[in-house]
Amino acid sequence: MTKEFVSFVRDLYRTTNFIPLHAPIFQGNERKYVNDTLDSSFVSSVGEYVNKSEELMQSFTNSTKAIAVVNGTAALTISLKAIGVNYGDEVITQALTFVATANAIVHVGAEPVFLDVDYDTMGLSPMALESFLTEYAEIRGESTYNKKTGKKIAACVPMHTFGFPVKIDELVAICSKWNIPVLEDTAESLGSYYKGKHTGTFGTLAAFSFNGNKIVTSGGGGMVITDDITLGKHIKHLTTTAKIPHPYEFVHDEIGYNFRMPNLNAALLCGQLEQLENFLLIKRNIAVEYENLFKNSAIKFRTEKENSRANYWLMCVELDSLNERDNFLKETNDNGVMTRPIWKLLYKLTMFKNCYRDSQKSAEYLESRIVNIPSSVFS
Ligand SMILES: *Cc1c(COP(=O)(O)O)cnc(C)c1O
Repeated sequence: MTKEFVSFVRDLYRTTNFIPLHAPIFQGNERKYVNDTLDSSFVSSVGEYVNKSEELMQSFTNSTKAIAVVNGTAALTISLKAIGVNYGDEVITQALTFVATANAIVHVGAEPVFLDVDYDTMGLSPMALESFLTEYAEIRGESTYNKKTGKKIAACVPMHTFGFPVKIDELVAICSKWNIPVLEDTAESLGSYYKGKHTGTFGTLAAFSFNGNKIVTSGGGGMVITDDITLGKHIKHLTTTAKIPHPYEFVHDEIGYNFRMPNLNAALLCGQLEQLENFLLIKRNIAVEYENLFKNSAIKFRTEKENSRANYWLMCVELDSLNERDNFLKETNDNGVMTRPIWKLLYKLTMFKNCYRDSQKSAEYLESRIVNIPSSVFS
């Protein structure tokens, strides 16, 4: 099967060269827009493309306010800050995620609490969340505290793994019983929908990434979206050094951040966002071809689940065992077709080894079997 897969991928991408997991393509207005910023000299912190990219994201996701920032990690960090996560708090998330999710939690002085994922979505499990809160949580006044540690449970950050939506409505319903705000890590799920609504519009707010390997890229960049206008305006204020607008005076009214996306990057992003619908279509076609290829084989191609429409950002297969996984990884990479195992569970990294974690049954299972396969859009 692995040999068939390698030759299939070579046919798909029509090359005998090395095939990466995900490479961007720039075939729309990207060059024109980037040149505009050079010609106008507005390459940095002000410029029309920043506003335009925010408007494009608002309309694409059907959200009220979008705030462009330097990268996805900054989008997560500023979101946590703005919803009131403080030093010494706990934040619930999944261990099966890219390290940036947990890094952002630590950047605001809080500590990650790792709960299990569901096998089918590969994202935070509503059942794991419910049982953790039932056992450990206690409402005191407006907030919820962990009875065992005495710490405030200040937020919950589910992540839509590889663009497959989590059961976000159930997670939000559980969190709202406990007054816990939900920040959706949508870094991987631009163009993914759950029950017809764009991912990121269920929680209080959401953080996107436009890193070079994401479905659209601004070189580096990120975006926060929210339907809470007051919160959105505060985030914009915080990311732009918390400066009070004034024609020439420098007055800042809190400790701000220099997290705004440069206009140069926003120009590239606008060019990319214009092609997002087309990228989604091409990816869906690739997914159909992969699904056919792996039909009746021991290797399972992972597809979108009930109630969800995935963006198929980074496609993946599930092998039968750790041993099968390792053989597949070796044979494909040896033949110039890049494949990569899903992330090491975060509590196995030295920085997070002392964080709380629950049973992690599904996370452990997936960790030993899931492998990403080439998923780039081609022309
Ligand atoms: C890419 C990614 C991020 C971070 O985005 P950057 O733009 O690289 O900072 C955060 N969370 C997840 C799940 C990601 O995949």
